[in-house]
Amino acid sequence: MPETNPPLKNDLVGDRVNLLGLDAAGLVALCASWGEKPFRAQQLLKWIHQRGVSEFDAMTDLARTLREHLAAKAEIRAPAVLTDHRAADETRKWLLDVGEGNAVEMVFIPETGRGTLCVSTQAGCAVDCRFCSTGKQGFSRNLRLDEVIGQLWWAEQALGGTTAGAERQISNVVFMGMGEPLLNYEVTLAAVRLMLDDRAYGLSRRRVTVSTSGVIPMMDRLREDCPVALAVSLHAPVDSLRDQLVPLNRKYPLDQLWLACSRYLQSAPRDFVTFEYVMLDGVNDSEAQAEQVLRWVADLPCKFNLIPFNPFPGSGLQRSTTDRISRFARRLSDAGIVTTVRRTRGDDIDAACGQLAGDVRDRTRRAERLEGKIIPIPIERPTALH
Ligand code: SAH
Ligand code: SF4
Repeated sequence: MPETNPPLKNDLVGDRVNLLGLDAAGLVALCASWGEKPFRAQQLLKWIHQRGVSEFDAMTDLARTLREHLAAKAEIRAPAVLTDHRAADETRKWLLDVGEGNAVEMVFIPETGRGTLCVSTQAGCAVDCRFCSTGKQGFSRNLRLDEVIGQLWWAEQALGGTTAGAERQISNVVFMGMGEPLLNYEVTLAAVRLMLDDRAYGLSRRRVTVSTSGVIPMMDRLREDCPVALAVSLHAPVDSLRDQLVPLNRKYPLDQLWLACSRYLQSAPRDFVTFEYVMLDGVNDSEAQAEQVLRWVADLPCKFNLIPFNPFPGSGLQRSTTDRISRFARRLSDAGIVTTVRRTRGDDIDAACGQLAGDVRDRTRRAERLEGKIIPIPIERPTALH
């Protein structure tokens, strides 16, 4: 598997450039190529990302000639929305068309005092974790910057947050949708930078979380380039099991992962790493394994987020019982580690993170599931057991 896949070029339709595919420097370069001053690029950045405007005519502080030029040569276009589902608990899920039969999903999870957008970075995923329906699809391609930042740009409009005076609903972004963000590194980095940019979305580093299965060299790059909150998908405390669950472990085993987390913490905006741990019945959820987790973590400052497995057809795996999850969580919290159990949100629309199959060709099977052939097990609200 390549360390990171090369980003695709900005999508050009005819001779139009999609401005969502350009970062701040890209907009400056575009303006320069048209003989415009750099401050024009700043104005454009604000119009597009801060105010969510897509009509060039509405960009009133740009000279008319520039607006006309933009109208002829550029566009602001997010991926087309195929479906929009709203769950009983107000979780929203959008299926986005990224062409050639590929679709990715994006989820918005509203909670008291905050709203989290879960974005995708790849169509499919090459890591092929044993328990992940995205991985089971194989890898189609990296999303481009316009497709990744376009998710936030579009969700801001859909949730009504970018018009002047309206309160933003998206306070947090997590890269926990489809794909391994650190295997689409350049695009992920550019998207993260736009999310943090005060002229764009102005989110704090602590409120943007990159989740990785453990691509160690890219964890180090992110630490140097733009450290944001980090979530690491651990799932097993020993190499023999993690090799099976997260095949990338064969390349980057647990002792190296521990060191990479420790290095990351030196620059991280939060003073802990969040470990995600999918709870698989009889596989990784015993109390003895919780003890092994504690031994592996040792003195690394961390929190644990236990994710009840979201079953999918043919996985051959089961979700741990609530009782086993509680015991596992208790072992960690008794040792002083803040441990939460993720509430499965949007179960009725199949919107739980990590459950994002997103392949339009897979719709029929998913429709069957929604009709109740597989009944989701209700899980308790997130419990800080500490
Ligand atoms: N590729 C990244 C981010 C996307 S997956 C990563 O693996 O971290 C986001 C989270 O969902 C990961 O922790 C992943 O392990 C988890 N996940 C994947 N499939 C799942 C499933 N079927 N049930 C529960 N969690 C799952
Ligand atoms: Fe890829 Fe993450 Fe799924 Fe593993 S869990 S296959 S890394 S998306």
